[in-house]
Amino acid sequence: MTATGPATTGEVRADPQAATPSAPADSRASCTHCGAALADDQEWCLECGAARAAIRGAPHWWIPLAIIGVLMLLVLAGVAVALAGLA
Ligand SMILES: [Zn+2]
Repeated sequence: MTATGPATTGEVRADPQAATPSAPADSRASCTHCGAALADDQEWCLECGAARAAIRGAPHWWIPLAIIGVLMLLVLAGVAVALAGLA
């Protein structure tokens, strides 16, 4: 009786060329139009006058609003409890 199970070859192929070059540091921004160096808080290129590539808005602007909302709800709940206790 010969039971031939499925041969599982767990061969994980490691691709030597999978190494991606790391992105350059974002601290030193440069103009995408002319390549001039931009200061960290510089919105416009002084060389060509182009706007910065990505004028970033606040990505998580709703987080402080959510925190303030939760705090307001807690304060209102506390006031309601206090008023209910007084009555
Ligand atoms: Zn420029």
